[in-house]
Amino acid sequence: MIGNLLELRSSRQRKNVLFVVTLFTLSVAVGCNQSNTNLARTSEQSPQAQEAGATPASQEKTKVVATILPTYLFTKAVAGDAADVSIIVPPTTDVHDYQATPDDVKAIASANILVKNGLGLEEFLDSTVKNAENPNLTKIDASQGIQTIDEISPVDQTVTGSHGHSHGHSHGHSHDHADGNPHVWLDPVLAKQQVTNIRDGLIAADPTNKATYEANAAAYIQELDNLDQEFQQTLQKTPNCTFITFHDAFPYLAQRYNLKQVAVVQIPEDQLSPTDVQKAVKAVQKYNVKALFSEPGVDNKLLTSLAQDLNLTVRTLDSLETGDRDPQYYFQAMRTNLQTLADGCK
Ligand SMILES: [Zn+2]
Repeated sequence: MIGNLLELRSSRQRKNVLFVVTLFTLSVAVGCNQSNTNLARTSEQSPQAQEAGATPASQEKTKVVATILPTYLFTKAVAGDAADVSIIVPPTTDVHDYQATPDDVKAIASANILVKNGLGLEEFLDSTVKNAENPNLTKIDASQGIQTIDEISPVDQTVTGSHGHSHGHSHGHSHDHADGNPHVWLDPVLAKQQVTNIRDGLIAADPTNKATYEANAAAYIQELDNLDQEFQQTLQKTPNCTFITFHDAFPYLAQRYNLKQVAVVQIPEDQLSPTDVQKAVKAVQKYNVKALFSEPGVDNKLLTSLAQDLNLTVRTLDSLETGDRDPQYYFQAMRTNLQTLADGCK
C-alpha cells in the first residue's frame, strides 16, 4: 500500500487537492480487499489512466465481464482504464465447447456489466447468468442490430447441405447457428458496430465515464476504418477469390470483400468423413477454389493429405477466438489474415 501511495503521490504532484481527497479515501478503504485490488491496478496502469483522464482512484471502478476474446478486446479498448474488464472464456480455450465454472458464476454475480458477442455463440451463458442471481447486472449484446448471415456463402446448397447449419471445429464439435452465424467480429465494418454497441452500453450503465468511453471508441473505430481500407485495397485485386474453410467463421469477411467461402469441411479428431471429403472435392471441381484455410493450432495429417489430393496449399486463418488480450491484437491478427488471404488468392 505504501508503494502505491508513493506512486500516486508522484503522479499527482500537481494536483494537490485531488491527492488529499484520494489519500483520505485510501485510508478509509484499507481493509477492504476489493478496493485494495482496484487501487493496485490503478497505480500499475497509471500512465494510461492519467492520459485518458480516467476515474480517480478514490472511486470503485465499474466491473465489466466480457464473454469471449473478440468481445473482450473491443470492451477493453472502449473501457480503457475507466472500468475493470475481465474475460470469462479463457483466450486459450475453444469458445464453442466452453463449459462455465463456479468462478464464472462468481464473476458475473459481482459484476456491474456483462458484455456478450451474442447470436447464440455463448451457449453456456444463460444458465450461468441465472445461477449468478445478480439483479443489478446490465447486459450488453455486442451484436445488437447486426444483419446476420445464416449460412456459408450461398453459392450452392448442395455443397453445404450435408451439415445444415452445424459448425465445424477441430474437435469435431457441432454448433447450431439458430441466431445466424455468430462470427461477425471478423468483418472490420461489423466490428465497428460491435464497438459502438459496447460504447453505448457502457455509457448507459456508467455515464460518469462517458467522455472516456467516447474518446476510446472513436480511436478504435478509426483504426478499424484503416483496417477496412487495407482489406478493400488488397482484396480488390483478387475479386471472387474462392476458398474452402474448416471453421465456418468467415462468411462476413467473405461477403464484405468479395470472396467466396464455398464449403466448410468438418475436422474430426480421427478421420474425415467420406461426405466431407466428397464435399471438398466437389467444391474444388465445381469452382475455381484457390485456397484451403485451416486454423492456428490445428495440425491435422488428414488436412494435409486432403490438400495434397486437391492440389491446394493449406493456410492458416485466425478466427480470433483465441489469442492475446491486448486490444491491438485484433489488428495484428487481422493484418496477418489479410496477408494470408492475399497469398492464398493470388
Ligand atoms: Zn467459431
